[in-house]
Amino acid sequence: MGRYDYIMAGAGAAGLSLTYHLIQAGLGDRRILLIDQSPKTANDRTWCFWETGDGVYEPIVFRRWRQVAFYSEHFSRALDLDPYCYKMIRGADFYRFVDEALASRPNIARRFGTIERIEDHADGATVYVNGAAYHGEWVFNSIPPQIVGGNTDGGYHRLLQHFAGWVVVAPQPAFDPAAATLMDFRIAQQGECRFCYVLPFDERRALVEFTVFSARLLPRAEYDQQIKAYLRDFLRLPAYEIEHEEFGVIPMTDAPFETFPGRRVVNIGTAGGCAKPSTGYTFLRIQQQAQRIVHALQTTGRPRYCVSPFQRRFGLYDSVLLNILDTGRYPAPRVFGDLFARNPAPRVLSFLDESTHVFQELGVLASTYYPPFIAATLDVTLGRLWRRLVGQLRQNMH
Ligand SMILES: Cc1cc2nc3c(=O)[nH]c(=O)nc-3n(C[C@H](O)[C@H](O)[C@H](O)COP(=O)(O)OP(=O)(O)OC[C@H]3O[C@@H](n4cnc5c(N)ncnc54)[C@H](O)[C@@H]3O)c2cc1C
Repeated sequence: MGRYDYIMAGAGAAGLSLTYHLIQAGLGDRRILLIDQSPKTANDRTWCFWETGDGVYEPIVFRRWRQVAFYSEHFSRALDLDPYCYKMIRGADFYRFVDEALASRPNIARRFGTIERIEDHADGATVYVNGAAYHGEWVFNSIPPQIVGGNTDGGYHRLLQHFAGWVVVAPQPAFDPAAATLMDFRIAQQGECRFCYVLPFDERRALVEFTVFSARLLPRAEYDQQIKAYLRDFLRLPAYEIEHEEFGVIPMTDAPFETFPGRRVVNIGTAGGCAKPSTGYTFLRIQQQAQRIVHALQTTGRPRYCVSPFQRRFGLYDSVLLNILDTGRYPAPRVFGDLFARNPAPRVLSFLDESTHVFQELGVLASTYYPPFIAATLDVTLGRLWRRLVGQLRQNMH
């Protein structure tokens, strides 16, 4: 049986990011095994996120925008993001970048095959792949969880962010490469939260994406119809070629994810609860989780990290936003429109990436339309109290 210090069960965004951060932090001399189904060569996704200054992956940022547009029936504006930049990294560039960083390290091994199960023991965990077994002192698992929307077990909100995108190439200049569209809510909402966004690469080429926050996926053809209609009705683009397509589903839920499911197994990435419940943005949170794990390993020798109870207030904001989106008590274009209309865009972005102070948060919350937010807060808080009470009663009965 192969023995390792760390095993990455799943070598996608989270497994590769954690490995990269381990190397950067000087832990690259450990015996590390990365396991995935197959080598990652395809450009299977693009990651967008916002940050100030230069980030860890600056050399592979494909495009960056300082200004983004927001559109809805009631409010439309070009938003100045400074000091933030909205950045895009292409999956293929990220996989190549990390591969190159790992290539010259003999202590880092890779295996390809299907992970059948992971067994947790007191002194490590064993990963079974196509009949072979690998033992790791710690196993970091990022095999994506089963995502089911609409299920109300435990009173949690379970929405899905589902989307399809096309990279289109216009025959003539059709895009302003300096101005991306973050959210365009002018499309029919059909009782859900639906928007399109446009990320121009140059004057002729852009990623155009149709996104829905709802409990159920649509028939596949409907995503294509929506993108086609948006290109025709809003971008006024009669002719184009489709260079690339992507499709994805991200969980938007306040149901807890098990980050530490065993003594020696740590869930990371989407499996470890990195998808922000109210927005679905995950990539930067994967980096933050990797940094926390690396810091814990350096200081304690174990990967267990704690999130301060005070930081957990953002979980409450997420639940309130999810509650509003889920119940439809206030239309999504108004929710996001009010936030961007009544606050400087950088403050909204810091609020959404959980880097605001309480006073700034009070300012953001005060800018919302109170009645639905108060109703949602009551609903969420009473739901939490009820869950705690039922949990306590169950414990007492055992
Ligand atoms: C198309 C798309 C676009 C996205 N865009 C953004 C974005 O713009 N911004 C953002 O913040 N987030 C975005 N996300 C969300 C999130 O950042 C990504 O899903 C990210 O890849 C999650 O990282 P992960 O490591 O948890 O999962 P993955 O990157 O999916 O990695 C999991 C790995 O596990 C492997 N695996 C699965 N099962 C097995 C098995 N049984 N055996 C062996 N290997 C297995 C898979 O092959 C995969 O490589 C997007 C997601 C998708 C799908």
